[in-house]
Amino acid sequence: MAPAHCVIKGCKTSIFNKAPGVSFHPCPTSIEMRNRWLHVLKNRCAILDWSKSRICSKHFENKYMDSQRRLKPNAVPTLFPALVTDSASKTIVKPSDAGRTKLDKAFSKLTQAELMSDIKFTLARMKEPINLNEFVNDDLKCRSDAPIEAKLWVLIKKQEYLNNMLTESVLKNNKQLEVMQKSLAETKSGRKEMEQNIENYKYVVKCLQEKQATLEEQIEILTAIESR
Ligand SMILES: [Zn+2]
Repeated sequence: MAPAHCVIKGCKTSIFNKAPGVSFHPCPTSIEMRNRWLHVLKNRCAILDWSKSRICSKHFENKYMDSQRRLKPNAVPTLFPALVTDSASKTIVKPSDAGRTKLDKAFSKLTQAELMSDIKFTLARMKEPINLNEFVNDDLKCRSDAPIEAKLWVLIKKQEYLNNMLTESVLKNNKQLEVMQKSLAETKSGRKEMEQNIENYKYVVKCLQEKQATLEEQIEILTAIESR
């Protein structure tokens, strides 16, 4: 739900007390307009949340309003209440979804268990790239002219190995990790029939990297507990 108050410092307008004719407006969505707004709004709001903050129409000159009192695409707030100068107060801009990939968004919604079942499912549809050996040497290094599938496949293998090692080291302390390793082991058996799909490769690399970070954090915590 949108906040009930205008985000501009010193402005008392809220949906409860607004005078007739005063309207509330969302922030722009384009990077270009956000940059222009940020330029004028820095130090003028405590927190600026691009998706939630609302600004009341008192801060917009008439030239920025259309006949239906909607903001024109080029609208920039220019009218502000007089403020006591406070050089220390800077506007905090909340990170927005702009620039995040679909993959990132999908990720943030998944729990660890869902992530693991997703990895399992995706791996089950993948198969080792054809002629992999031609592109990968014994040190598991890819030739520079190797196709992207081969490079990603090797990356997945290395991540998986790393994850297995990490998983092993914390296994005795954490039953949840036991389940995760089991699902990784199960994935291996079905891999021969897997379908090749570049998006799948990328997805799994990202999944495993995410999981690895979590495991490292867990190891850190466990080590800290043990060393007490
Ligand atoms: Zn206002």
